[in-house]
Amino acid sequence: MEQNKHIIMFPFMAHGHLTRFLELAYRIVHHDPSFTITIVNTPLNINSLRSAIANRPSPPSQIHLKPIPFNSTDHGLPLHSENTNNIHPSQIPLLIKACTSFEAPFHQFISEVVSSERNPLVCMVSDGFMRWAGDVAKSFGVFNYLFLSGAYGSVAAISVARNLPYLNMVDGGTHDEFSVPSFPETCRFRHIELTPRIRALNGDDEFAKLFKQGGSSLPEYNGVLCNTVKEIEPLGFEVVQNYFKLPVWCVGPLIPIKLLIKNTGSDTSKGITSQRSGKKLGIDPRYCMEWLDSHPTRSVLYISFGSENTISKTQMMELAKGLEESQKPFIWVIRPPIGFDPKSDFQPEWLPSGFVDRVAKQGLVVTGWAPQLEILCHWSTGAFLSHCGWNSVLESLSQGVPMIGWPLGAEQGYNAKMLAEEMGISVVLARWADTRITKEEVSRVINMVLDKSEGGKGDVMRKKASEVRELMRATIENNKGSYYNAMNDFLTRCVSI
Ligand code: UDP
Repeated sequence: MEQNKHIIMFPFMAHGHLTRFLELAYRIVHHDPSFTITIVNTPLNINSLRSAIANRPSPPSQIHLKPIPFNSTDHGLPLHSENTNNIHPSQIPLLIKACTSFEAPFHQFISEVVSSERNPLVCMVSDGFMRWAGDVAKSFGVFNYLFLSGAYGSVAAISVARNLPYLNMVDGGTHDEFSVPSFPETCRFRHIELTPRIRALNGDDEFAKLFKQGGSSLPEYNGVLCNTVKEIEPLGFEVVQNYFKLPVWCVGPLIPIKLLIKNTGSDTSKGITSQRSGKKLGIDPRYCMEWLDSHPTRSVLYISFGSENTISKTQMMELAKGLEESQKPFIWVIRPPIGFDPKSDFQPEWLPSGFVDRVAKQGLVVTGWAPQLEILCHWSTGAFLSHCGWNSVLESLSQGVPMIGWPLGAEQGYNAKMLAEEMGISVVLARWADTRITKEEVSRVINMVLDKSEGGKGDVMRKKASEVRELMRATIENNKGSYYNAMNDFLTRCVSI
């Protein structure tokens, strides 16, 4: 019987990480069907990956899922808390710490795979939080590749965390610019651009301890896969190379391929479905599309802070007032504000009194999961107010939709910085869930980005976003371009070792 080449992947337990690894698995078997992929994770996450696969047409037989037992209560987490989505944000450090408990069962699994006569294991692809993966791989004589999201943002996050004691930072003021190792001296960072958790790194909260530990040494890797496009992040590609001094393959954008194919009709959203995530939608997608159909080209603002982040109630109030004042059409995906149970149902008190009724004609308030891909692909979507999670960034850029940045955690602050300063397709409206925003500023920025006047800031951003979209498309079109070269090179290399 013909044997397939086997790659084992281990993502972190967060929606964005799991979906990114799944997309990578799809792309690999699509690129070369002689590969078999096994994605390893906790039972709950494996179930959600299973339903995500079931929601896609013709599931490939080469993608396998392997649950590894995980008892969340052993790690101080509530029962069945196996994903950043179903825990309180303050418990994320516990989930990160819990990753160490996978080492022994994962080792056992690899030893079964290696001793079986079936498909030979050619390499592992692991998440940065699975710090032990390199040791396991080494003990079986296989290579372990790190899988990063965006290049610039990811390296900035790692480099800042590792070098924090040596960064010449001043808190606030006009002289608070500093440079970050691996970045060119001309690329200046500011104190406010670091997440509050990083800024408080001298404190002794669990995040601070984790960052310190994570920053102290770099696990062993044999190469780096990046979910990005070399052409859209030239500086990012350079800094990943500077930082890791390892082979780097930009195999992105790992978003549904349909998003990247040039549409010929007016309705780009046809055939795209967010149901692929396996999440229950908070709005009927047909209604959502009809609503978008009824608006002019590039006129609607889409607002979402991703699958796990949220803002404070005070910020939510100002955002609502600013939206109303702007009078621009919008779709706003609302998650419970900070301090509320992330699973709690929508409560009108989160928004100004009477807001939902007053804006009934102006916008759609979605409580729950939104069909984000369909919305971004629709021709009437004109801008995306986003936390700048990397999947959202790639999805928006693939449609040439300019962004309004409001980073809330992780490497989002650096993504927002790059989108604004390197690409010029975004403006930063606010940062983090603890800063003050005003309705006037919200309204001003929305109006500026959606403004269609020739040569205005909105127009310039839209044109740049369209250029980025074309660059992204060129990398996958006609089975050539940098994506294909990177994928070829990576797959050839991982079997030749
Ligand atoms: N997403 C969605 N509907 C929502 C919220 C998020 O479809 O209501 C999807 C979005 O399309 C993206 C992912 O969830 O693919 C969010 O990933 P991202 O990296 O942007 O942020 P994270 O959730 O990891 O912070």
